[in-house]
Order: sequence, then C-alpha cells, then structure tokens
Amino acid sequence: MNTASTQPTITLALSKGRIFDETLPLLKAAGIEVLDDPETTRKLILATNQPHVRVLLVRATDVPTYVALGGADIGVTGKDTLIESGSDGLYQPLDLKIAKCRMSVAVREGFDYQAAVKQGARLTVATKFVQIARDFFAGKGVHVDIIKLYGSMELAPLTGLADAIVDVVSTGATLKANHLVEVEFIMDISSRLVVNQAALKLKHDLLRPILIAFENAVR
Ligand code: AMP
Repeated sequence: MNTASTQPTITLALSKGRIFDETLPLLKAAGIEVLDDPETTRKLILATNQPHVRVLLVRATDVPTYVALGGADIGVTGKDTLIESGSDGLYQPLDLKIAKCRMSVAVREGFDYQAAVKQGARLTVATKFVQIARDFFAGKGVHVDIIKLYGSMELAPLTGLADAIVDVVSTGATLKANHLVEVEFIMDISSRLVVNQAALKLKHDLLRPILIAFENAVR
C-alpha cells in the first residue's frame, strides 16, 4: 500500500536568486538538500532529499501570500517585502540574517536634497517600496508625491521623473554607476523566516527540527 500521499508534507516557499542561494546552507544544516537547480530547471516545485519536504519557487513578493494563505507552510522573505505586503497571519520566529542590504534615499549627483526636504517642500519620490517611503517621509514631516515603479528606479532621477528614489542598496555600485548618491539611510534589511500559523500547530513535529536547525545555523 502506498502511504506516501497521506504523510504530512512541509512546503517551503523561496524566491530564486539571492534568497534561494543564501537559504541553501541553512537547509543543509537542517539535513535538507534541494535536488534541482532553480536556475536550470523549469520545475516550480522542487524535491529535496527529505521525502516530506519540498520547495516552492515563487516570486519574492508572493512569498508572504503563499505562506499566510497556506499554499506553503514556511517561507523566506525580506523585511522590505514583509513591510510592503503586510504580515497578517504570519508567524515570524527568526531573522535569518541573510540577503542583507539597506533601504536608502538616493538622488542625482548635484541635487540639493537638504534644501528640497526643508519643512513644507514637496518632493517627488519614485520607488517600489511605497509603504516604507511613505512612512519614512511622514516621520520627517516631508510632503512627498510617490510614483510607484516596478524596477530600474535609478532611471527616475536621471530622466526628471522624480527628485529622489527609495531603493535597496548593497555595495552602492549601482547608484555610483548611474551618478546617484545615497543621502539618507532608512533601515537595515535582511530576510526572515515566516511560518503559517495553522501549520505551526498542525505540523509542529515536522517543523520544529527545521526551526531549531535554522536557529542554530544563524547563531
Ligand atoms: P549594489 O549595486 O550592490 O548596491 O546593489 C544594488 C541593487 O542590487 C539594488 O538595486 C537591488 O536591485 C539589488 N540588491 C542588492 N542587495 C539586495 C538584497 N539584499 N535584496 C534584494 N535586492 C538587492
């Protein structure tokens, strides 16, 4: 008799690229190895060496949705994504300290940012991170018009679309190459483990060793 389908399964939602790559060593610490390479396979559900653990490849911004609504039991997602998408229904036990970068404000070289942010001034800000930008400038008492973009925010100040951008910065090389300068630090960003609250109770025995291994590996 085949009982495999009745075994509970742990589904882990990951996005391709930095988060996937930097989660692999944590999975390894939990004895889990992904059997396919997401860069070469067309599969979206990847098997692991553990028959009860599988990996779902989803877009970074969709990870909180999959986990909150039970399409996946656990996931790894950036603090920026969690702030932007909201984290209702998600248990966040662990900062994995991976995919680190910072959220910053940047402007074109030569732009007088300090003058522009004087109380009462109105600044046009292009960003993918609307919530973070809105909260940050509201906290400073600066009036902003936000333009939502989905990529290549660096172009906005260069084309006159916006005065400033709010974007993630790692080495600063992308800003430099596009003649932009970082003028304000908003927050440090890293990736978090998120867990579906129902799964935490119903699949506790399967999840617990993974959470413990991740926690030890992060330390
Ligand atoms: P850098 O040139 O090293 O400052 O990297 C800047 C660009 O890389 C950003 O515009 C992002 O698109 C991307 N990037 C760097 N670090 C991260 C991260 N931890 N998470 C997401 N995107 C990142």
